[in-house]
Amino acid sequence: MMDKALRVLQKYFGYSQLREGQEKVITSLLQGSDTLAIMPTGAGKSLSYQIPALLFEGVTLVISPLISLMKDQVDALKEFGVSSTFINSSLTLRETRSRIEQAGRGEYKLVYVAPERLETESFGELLESLHISFVAIDEAHCVSQWGHDFRPSYLRLGPFIQGLPRRPLVGAFTATATEGVKQDIIRHLRLHNPKIFVTGFDRPNLTFSSLRGENKKVFLLEYVQAHPEQCGIVYAATRKEVDALQAFLTGKGIKAGRYHAGMNDMERQESQEDFLYDRTPVIVATNAFGMGIDKSNVRYVIHFNMPKTMEAYYQEAGRAGRDGEPAECILLFSPQDVVLQRHMIEQTTLHPERKVNELKKLQEMVDYCHTTRCLRKTILEYFGENDVPEECGNCGNCKDDRETVDITVEAQKIFSCIYRMRERFGMNLVAEVLKGSRAKKVLDLKFDQLSTYGIMRQAAVQDIKDCMNYLITENYLRLTAGEYPLIKLEPKVVPVLKGEAKVFRKVARKIEKKNIDPQSLFERLRALRRTIAAREKLPPYMIFADNTLREMAETCPGERTALLRINGVGERKLEKYGREFLAEIQAYVQGH
Ligand code: ADP
Ligand code: ZN
Repeated sequence: MMDKALRVLQKYFGYSQLREGQEKVITSLLQGSDTLAIMPTGAGKSLSYQIPALLFEGVTLVISPLISLMKDQVDALKEFGVSSTFINSSLTLRETRSRIEQAGRGEYKLVYVAPERLETESFGELLESLHISFVAIDEAHCVSQWGHDFRPSYLRLGPFIQGLPRRPLVGAFTATATEGVKQDIIRHLRLHNPKIFVTGFDRPNLTFSSLRGENKKVFLLEYVQAHPEQCGIVYAATRKEVDALQAFLTGKGIKAGRYHAGMNDMERQESQEDFLYDRTPVIVATNAFGMGIDKSNVRYVIHFNMPKTMEAYYQEAGRAGRDGEPAECILLFSPQDVVLQRHMIEQTTLHPERKVNELKKLQEMVDYCHTTRCLRKTILEYFGENDVPEECGNCGNCKDDRETVDITVEAQKIFSCIYRMRERFGMNLVAEVLKGSRAKKVLDLKFDQLSTYGIMRQAAVQDIKDCMNYLITENYLRLTAGEYPLIKLEPKVVPVLKGEAKVFRKVARKIEKKNIDPQSLFERLRALRRTIAAREKLPPYMIFADNTLREMAETCPGERTALLRINGVGERKLEKYGREFLAEIQAYVQGH
């Protein structure tokens, strides 16, 4: 049975081995068991249902929440030589009917369906003629109110499946592992004695770091500048922030796009495509961006603001490095984010029990930002994995080599100023007073008469604020809740003011510059890929993934069979692109 699966894997997708999690899930499905597969983003969920779909008789329905995902997946499958189609609200009834008829004639093995379609009765009737052997439900956590992406139409899935003339095999796929979500999936989707598999959540090629007290804008700019030619996603919390950051980066000459729900469909589509096609290497976006973006060569994901939950964080950060090549996930923490998120949760009309749940999740996210333990271990334990080594050696905390400086004097100045202002003001005003500003509010309140007025005159206001942020993250200071947070002193400041304790700060992280040699074979293959992609009107990563190009560059295959042995080169791609890539490799080899 596994032989067949491996043959399909090699023939269409060009891979020689299944990953451990995939093998278990595929075996379970081929044995005919309903299956719940919990796999982190990038672990290879799609193949886990596509391979069974290709082996089963009849048609597989793939339920998938986003229209953009469907079109992408159908396009990508086409490149692999697999014919599939999608049905969503963008089609007329006639088109829908004709696609179903074609599937009935065996022209499509997979039909991607938006869950909203299931709400119309006529759709169920249309499907009656079809031999549906398997229903694969992608992003299955959308069925749960406890998840972070609840979609009411997912609740229709259970009854829909039950209503089919012959009950198909059901597979549910998600990256969310919490117990409540798991139980909801089993119950609402009415899975029959499901086999449950939780794939290792580790993504060894991702380097995680969480940075506190950085000047976020400066960091972002320097990072993006140090990684030219590389694709990255910058997540920000609000539309306004997205617009501002994109304008900021563009103003500095960086090709950056933006994406959020406030833009119209066309603008969004355009931004998304520019990013997928590597035309704008950087995209600044809210969390509306990404579900279903399976661009495999994203080299970094920077969170400019902290997300609400670890699930959301790991899913968004996990969009980096799906091709298995090294990639970075950086979270820029600032205490204001916590205040804002808490405020938003408290303002919602959620049931009190759910509010408590959300606040707890938020706290777990904040803890992640503050831990000095290995970040990978922290993540994996959160997702329920035990036996994780103490140190991974490949996260910001394991390899923190930043220099430590003594900032006791600055801290004392800030603490006394807050004390003299009676802890009744926000961070901005405190910074103005320390700087010695002549702003009206400062003068009106007679703060220019305080002994702490202007005692940090040499520093920039932003640096003073950065320093305060750092002191907040280290629990010397605290921001109150609410829309206009006040800055307060914590007990930890007392020994510092008395001169009995010192305060240390790690200086800003050094950003390593990536050097790119345009003459290297890898870069030449990338350039060729770009040309082909433009010609085929496809995103470059759909031609070949970065790691496939890397393997080509390392092994320099000289003829077709050698090229076919490279991971990611299947029969169809060999036919379509083999000649051009072999020629480029040969030209390079001759030149050296
Ligand atoms: P998920 O849906 O779980 O986020 P994908 O299905 O998009 O992940 O797969 C992530 C990447 O891993 C894709 O680029 C895919 O081609 C690659 N991949 C999946 N399975 C394998 C495999 N067995 N061997 C090599 N690469 C694989
Ligand atoms: Zn680590």
